[in-house]
Amino acid sequence: MAQKNIVIVGAGFAGVYATKRLAKHFKKDKDVTITLIDRHSYFTYMTELHEVAADRVPEDAIQYDLQRLFARRKNVKLVTDTATTIDREKKLVKTKHGAYPYDYVMLGIGSQPNDFGTPGVKDYGFTLGSWEHAIALKKHIQDVVRRGAEEHDPAKRKALLSIVVVGSGFTGTETIGELRDWRDTLAKENKLDPSEITFTLMEMAPTIMNMLDRSDANKAERYLLKKGVKVMKNTGVVGVHEDHVDLKDGSTYPTSTLIWTAGVKATDEAAQFGLTQGRAGRIVVNSHMESQDDPDVYVVGDVSFFGGNSDRGEPQIVQGAEAGAKTALTNIESKMAGKAGDLDYKASYSGFMVSLGSRYGVANLMNIFHLSGFFAMLMKHLVNMLYFLQNYSGYYFFQYMMHEFFRTKNDRNLMRGHLSRQGNVLWAVPSRIFLGLMWLVDCAGKVSGKESWFLDKLRLPFDWLQPATTSGASAAGADATSAASGAAKAAAPAAKTVFSLSYQYGKEPMMVFDKMPNWMYTITKAMIPNQDVAFFMQKSMTIIEILIGLALVAGLFTWLSGAVSVAFTIIFCLSGMFYWVNIWMIPMAIAVMNGSGRAFGLDKWVVPYLQKTFGKWWYGTPKALYGSDTPK
Ligand SMILES: Cc1cc2nc3c(=O)[nH]c(=O)nc-3n(C[C@H](O)[C@H](O)[C@H](O)COP(=O)(O)OP(=O)(O)OC[C@H]3O[C@@H](n4cnc5c(N)ncnc54)[C@H](O)[C@@H]3O)c2cc1C
Repeated sequence: MAQKNIVIVGAGFAGVYATKRLAKHFKKDKDVTITLIDRHSYFTYMTELHEVAADRVPEDAIQYDLQRLFARRKNVKLVTDTATTIDREKKLVKTKHGAYPYDYVMLGIGSQPNDFGTPGVKDYGFTLGSWEHAIALKKHIQDVVRRGAEEHDPAKRKALLSIVVVGSGFTGTETIGELRDWRDTLAKENKLDPSEITFTLMEMAPTIMNMLDRSDANKAERYLLKKGVKVMKNTGVVGVHEDHVDLKDGSTYPTSTLIWTAGVKATDEAAQFGLTQGRAGRIVVNSHMESQDDPDVYVVGDVSFFGGNSDRGEPQIVQGAEAGAKTALTNIESKMAGKAGDLDYKASYSGFMVSLGSRYGVANLMNIFHLSGFFAMLMKHLVNMLYFLQNYSGYYFFQYMMHEFFRTKNDRNLMRGHLSRQGNVLWAVPSRIFLGLMWLVDCAGKVSGKESWFLDKLRLPFDWLQPATTSGASAAGADATSAASGAAKAAAPAAKTVFSLSYQYGKEPMMVFDKMPNWMYTITKAMIPNQDVAFFMQKSMTIIEILIGLALVAGLFTWLSGAVSVAFTIIFCLSGMFYWVNIWMIPMAIAVMNGSGRAFGLDKWVVPYLQKTFGKWWYGTPKALYGSDTPK
């Protein structure tokens, strides 16, 4: 096959979805190149913009580097540039700095806020349609609250500390909920009474959150009201000024922070591509997601307008973007295989999830399950995490877990901060060294002398390994249960010689399991079926114990050594070899996994070195501009 080029413009939800799947589909086909062009070197996780705006997650938490997302996809060429037009005669996508030939192009350049020409929104209002908008809003709120706290004039103070969101769709609702979540931190930082910072949600319609089921919307509204958010329905904003807004009924409302989320339209640049536009500037497509002007140009996501199901087009949401991308990429694959490419777009919306801050949300799953509060939020997180798994990105799955659960500030996460309390790892250093020494002391008696575990003398206390019991048990064909009780009898006395440190004070120490559980018995017997394997195991386990001990003392691979310590202790307990007084090793090993090797330990140097070297080998060096080596 001659060289074929698929060019995807826009690395948003639609573009990333399509690129991932096309890359996989054509991975063995050297003649197909997929070029992904975006003005940024990263994918912006738009549905979390409000979390950045309200300072819940770090600014870069929603930027996912494209090279990391497409690591090791050799058939994907990344280009950081702004597409300006499509030359359909020459079949070129033109960008500010180059031109890229295509056989098929997929345009997924997204949307932007629509202020419907309302005076003052551009000059004094804020929107939330991009990462830059989120940062600008965050900085503005920090600024007005700081100024408000120091303001003596009551009217000015009120306007500075009043935050107004216009529009109660996804963006508006999630934004007001998230900003309210931020209130107490803002107040504390500025020595303010929290109730002085006020939040108002204005909606033109008589009800709010009209994309939700009424019962879900009512729950969400009750939550907002309970949190002191003022909800103003039937309220139109007709003008925005520096310290107030004009309302349709002729009155004014004081605020220095007006966030406009009342509409979305196709990005302005959509007009440059010479394709027919429909409602709100969206590019008109047929049911195959082809532009009605050219069957080789596919348009997907927020910027596309498919009027087959509704005059208003499909909803501009992630599920719609991915469904459109799926239709388009399947048709491209078919056409490239010489087939018709006539798959029709099929809308399938499996539900909605709306978060109101870090701890409360409402969710409607497949119109069957209606969740609220903790479970709705949990579901939203699971869906977000699933996104990274579906896009084969373990790296960003891990990053998501970190910024949403383990590294959030001010207890602003689903688990109310219980997972994200940070402390100085220095305090775990003595535990780390002590635990390491315990392993070494235990091994000291096992490496030399008559009791050495390296001699061919059986040290493992399992009944089937003892010469008499082995033959007896097999000859009798004893079942696992009776064998297990046999093991228990054999294990208990033998165990006393297994762990070298003596706990014989006061009463006789108690075994954790004086009877090995049946399932453990079966597994262990399968793994260590005879004395030869047992000798090998007792020697290799002793070596591993020594290595764990040394690693913990030196603070090397501490997380791994802690995890292996936990695993070994559990195995020894289940095998009838450990006493209850040994159990402390489990919580202590978990405690040292907190990065304690980074303080007075080798992990301080080794882990960053490995991260850097492995990251470079696997992903390459992240760049602000990709594809600058591409011929112009
Ligand atoms: C605050 C907020 C909250 C939201 N919450 C939800 C939610 O909870 N659930 C939900 O389903 N949806 C939600 N949405 C909507 C959802 O984010 C969009 O429907 C989705 O992002 C659309 O995907 P897309 O691929 O069409 O566009 P986008 O994801 O916007 O991506 C467009 C990409 O094109 C790039 N681009 C634009 N122009 C050019 C150009 N000329 N050249 C090169 N690159 C270009 C941009 O840089 C961007 O990367 C929310 C949106 C916002 C703003």
